[in-house]
Amino acid sequence: MNIEELKLELKYTSRRGSLCYSVKDHNTLAVKAPHGTSMDYIREDISRNWDKVHKLFESYYLDSPVRGFADGIKLFLMGAEIILRYKTMDSIAFHFNPDENTLYIAKDLQNEVESLLKCFFSHKAEYLRVRCRYLAMQHNFRVNRINLRWVSSKWGSCSVKGNVTLSNYLIMAPKAIQDYIILHELCHLRHMNHSKDFYALLQKLDAQYKEHRAWLKDKGRALRIFHQK
Ligand SMILES: [Zn+2]
Repeated sequence: MNIEELKLELKYTSRRGSLCYSVKDHNTLAVKAPHGTSMDYIREDISRNWDKVHKLFESYYLDSPVRGFADGIKLFLMGAEIILRYKTMDSIAFHFNPDENTLYIAKDLQNEVESLLKCFFSHKAEYLRVRCRYLAMQHNFRVNRINLRWVSSKWGSCSVKGNVTLSNYLIMAPKAIQDYIILHELCHLRHMNHSKDFYALLQKLDAQYKEHRAWLKDKGRALRIFHQK
């Protein structure tokens, strides 16, 4: 994002004082300005306060669930940024181009974007099942069933029957974070609690588990992009 590609949506208000900025979508800034404020003045004010304005856009991407899935927003897949674009397409609903890191959604299915994204990401999330089987085998855990669900309250869980459930949202996180969650749940197969022994085992399998936990606490919210029902 830079100042040249910024679109402005101007609203004049009767309130006096300084200009008021908020993010409308990925490249539009909503500006509330007192009556009679000139466009030049607004442009100047924005460039003077560019650090602040830029931060608004950053938090729009990072801190809040993606609003309305506007054209051009960033999403994450295995920790890497991908761009969402709407495009006129023949007979396909969506298409991911890895060279462009772009996920194209059919323009006329724009209203279905949420379910199409869920379809795309849950398909990709099948990888987590394979990864979980692999890590279980590598570290001698006996795992029963592996479920993938759109859970937003937790990243994973483990039942007494040895079933592991992973959140589909995990497919958006970097690989090290995915492994941390999977190993965490696998460790529960041996220790059904968060005891010292549990953490000692986890530490052995993921020496950086504290960093990974902190990453999720800090950035995890931004990955949960769908509205909760
Ligand atoms: Zn746990």
